[in-house]
Amino acid sequence: MRAADLHRQAFDVLVVGGGIIGCGVARDAARRGLRVALIEQDDFGSGTSAGSTRLIHGGLRYLEMLDFALVRLDLREREILLRIAPHLVEPLRFLLPFYNASSFTRFKMRVGMWLYDALSYDRSLEGHAMLSAAEARAAEPRLIADGLQGAAAYSDAQAALPERLCMENVVDAVAAGAVVCNHSKVIAAVVSEERIRGVRVHDLIAHREVEVTARVVVNAAGPWFDRAAGVLQPDTRARVRTTRGIHIACPNPPKQALALPSAVDGRLTFVIPWLGYAWVGTTDIDYTGDPSDVAATREEIEYLRRSVEPFVGGLGEVLFTNAGVRALVRREGHASAVTRSHSVIAEPSPVGLVSIIGGKLTGYRGIAEEAVNRVCRLLEVDARSTTAAEPLPGGRQDVGPEPALLSEPQRAHLQRLYGARRAEILQLVADRPELGHRLMEGEPDVGAQVVHAVRQEACERVADFVFRRSRLAFTPHRGRPALGRIAGIMREELGWSDVRTAEELARCRRLLDRTDGDHPTGGESFAEI
Ligand SMILES: Cc1cc2nc3c(=O)[nH]c(=O)nc-3n(C[C@H](O)[C@H](O)[C@H](O)COP(=O)(O)OP(=O)(O)OC[C@H]3O[C@@H](n4cnc5c(N)ncnc54)[C@H](O)[C@@H]3O)c2cc1C
Repeated sequence: MRAADLHRQAFDVLVVGGGIIGCGVARDAARRGLRVALIEQDDFGSGTSAGSTRLIHGGLRYLEMLDFALVRLDLREREILLRIAPHLVEPLRFLLPFYNASSFTRFKMRVGMWLYDALSYDRSLEGHAMLSAAEARAAEPRLIADGLQGAAAYSDAQAALPERLCMENVVDAVAAGAVVCNHSKVIAAVVSEERIRGVRVHDLIAHREVEVTARVVVNAAGPWFDRAAGVLQPDTRARVRTTRGIHIACPNPPKQALALPSAVDGRLTFVIPWLGYAWVGTTDIDYTGDPSDVAATREEIEYLRRSVEPFVGGLGEVLFTNAGVRALVRREGHASAVTRSHSVIAEPSPVGLVSIIGGKLTGYRGIAEEAVNRVCRLLEVDARSTTAAEPLPGGRQDVGPEPALLSEPQRAHLQRLYGARRAEILQLVADRPELGHRLMEGEPDVGAQVVHAVRQEACERVADFVFRRSRLAFTPHRGRPALGRIAGIMREELGWSDVRTAEELARCRRLLDRTDGDHPTGGESFAEI
């Protein structure tokens, strides 16, 4: 549904921001029987949620910061996500090697590993093990032998496509009755007698503004929090500290995920096997620009190389980059030392506004539950969260038979993207066999996915499909050979004109160019994209 059609509709709760936390809030609230609207200015999952390292983890770094509560909360959530989204969240074994470390440092590492296991007492994953240098090299031949004393091996998890995790929350929210609108920006609050009554929304595709009524509004705008707060509750002080982090995708993935203290400054960095690449990150630099403009800089790419290459050898070519902006509860000090824990606040003014600040991808479900508990209190509704127990739509086991179509590798690919919902794609192919043709040579994706994305997953732009409904943007050619075909199918589904089709293609190409490995463009403004 377009936001322009929401005129005069009334909701119990309206969520501003369709990142992982806003999508989680929409799902939780809708499943509790509330009338929910979710409004996203770009596409669901296009903000920080797509700019993360993609780990579902307690975070060894936070253990070092003695933030045991955060680590425990996230380890609990890691278990829940492994259970409710097994197609999107998978176990990942890590090595934390030590080079020229003192016996005290190695002792600290042992204690840390023991604590990490103790805090994940309800885990289904393998516990830690201490490896000799020879065992570490056998497990990960890329580790440079010189100075290697051994490694700690431990378990965490990876959400290779958090964009799909956002979408599954959206799909489940819609199934429970939520109305969701992307490419629509909340531009003002409607307030009377100190109480929020709704918001004004600018539909960026229909180019219209509407007023939408809601009893409670949730600010889940992530790193845009202060900007959104500025229109929802003017005259507030800045409450969020924003820092930029980047990643680079390089050839030759390691066999194991590697957690490496940077050779430059000792910060924990990662080299992770991800979709056939070595995924290397990240940086943590104060950033005050518009989060929509964030992009990797040459200096940061260089920093990552210098941080990890002494341990794993040359990274080779940078195939593509990505960047995200963290939203941290505002505190002074070095960015890396600021807590990643979140806060949920029922604002005193205007009454009916709930703010969510900070939080990690890993903890999104628990944060959403806490926020919806607040919403229920404001609405005087007694309803409990079901999101920890109920699998996301693609994680359900109780699906019926599906048409035996497409090749086995294609079916496996669809399983990784959609889980049990791949049956919906296969049914489209059964109904219209021409939709079973590949979108491009060498990639498993088929036309039915584009039709499905438009009809079932609110896909409004070519870039939405390339970056977030499929993983084409993360292939070596970045999906460019498929763009014409995708635009053709979307044009047919959405009734686009020639001009609109050309605009969508150009927009998608600009976004791809911006993240190509050989064109780091940090600092340039992309507000018009
Ligand atoms: C470099 C980096 C690495 C990270 N790695 C990890 C990790 O490995 N594991 C982990 O657990 N966490 C990680 N995180 C943290 C994690 O990514 C974030 O905490 C999480 O994605 C935040 O989700 P969110 O929904 O709050 O924000 P976002 O995903 O940014 O969503 C906010 C949304 O609000 C929308 N919005 C803003 N203003 C408006 C408006 N006025 N109207 C409508 N919509 C609006 C935006 O377009 C955006 O989509 C990392 C973060 C960074 C930056």
